[in-house]
Amino acid sequence: MIGFPLGHSLSPSIHTAALKARGLHGDYSLFPISPEDKQGLKDLLARVRAGEIHGLNVTIPHKQNVIELMDELTPTAKVIGAVNTIYMREDKLIGDNTDAPGFLADLKRVSNSSFIIPHSALVLGAGGSARAVVYALLNDGWEVTLAARRIEQAQQLVDSFANYQLQVADFSSLIIHHSSLIVNTTPIGMTPNIEASPLPEMTTFAENTFIYDLVYNPRETKLVKDARAQGLSATTGLGMLIEQAALAFEKWTGLNADRAAMQKAVA
Ligand code: NAP
Repeated sequence: MIGFPLGHSLSPSIHTAALKARGLHGDYSLFPISPEDKQGLKDLLARVRAGEIHGLNVTIPHKQNVIELMDELTPTAKVIGAVNTIYMREDKLIGDNTDAPGFLADLKRVSNSSFIIPHSALVLGAGGSARAVVYALLNDGWEVTLAARRIEQAQQLVDSFANYQLQVADFSSLIIHHSSLIVNTTPIGMTPNIEASPLPEMTTFAENTFIYDLVYNPRETKLVKDARAQGLSATTGLGMLIEQAALAFEKWTGLNADRAAMQKAVA
């Protein structure tokens, strides 16, 4: 995995379990490369081209930086404008994005069909993971409203999805009641700030709203706790983390990933 910093990543445990479950020998290593170290990035990609490294995950701050160094992007990575998985296909270095399908697969796994009506989603935040979430939801037929503290950042995201209907709302004037799904893509509530929530204290959700918080550390965020206290279904992002890792593993190895073993490694 390329990123910076990479101190607390769960990915080595998840992928080590995936390799072991399929009887494969291998290591999942962390390559901390600073944002300025363009040569470090190129050198690592050269090792992938040479077959010395089988594949890479990419995280902050390199998800966009690597794009110009790829031979091809998958359609998903192209529209989202971010790469989180790299592999070789027919002598070409391919940049892919498994965050979007990973989010959608986990959303479908954890949600039940009752919340699908009226099929409107509110996405909080407009950064890297918001792009993947918005893309996944729009392609799945959701009406999406994007709420961000910086309207210009939200507008940029909207502009890059020009073929879709997407609303923008100010973070401070959220229309909670029309949303059957609320997805938090901001880091608010992440350890060590576990008492913070992206929504104001005492927010009342509509009946049957489903809350999906991409934050997975802590395992139960304040947002999720508050939603559950109102009797709603809610989840943090560990399932998405496992699913995007499983999809990457399948691209690298051609084998089905053992999701249960991967989940157990970080339970
Ligand atoms: P990012 O690119 O930095 O985007 C974060 C977004 O949140 C930006 O729009 C940012 O706005 C906004 N934001 C940050 N602090 C805020 C605040 N106090 N109030 C309002 N908005 C705020 O980060 P990212 O890669 O999207 O990751 C976001 C979170 O998702 C992280 O906690 C990450 O661990 C998690 N994540 C989970 C998974 C998973 O598999 N479960 C995958 C990816 C990411 P500004 O630009 O104005 O700061």
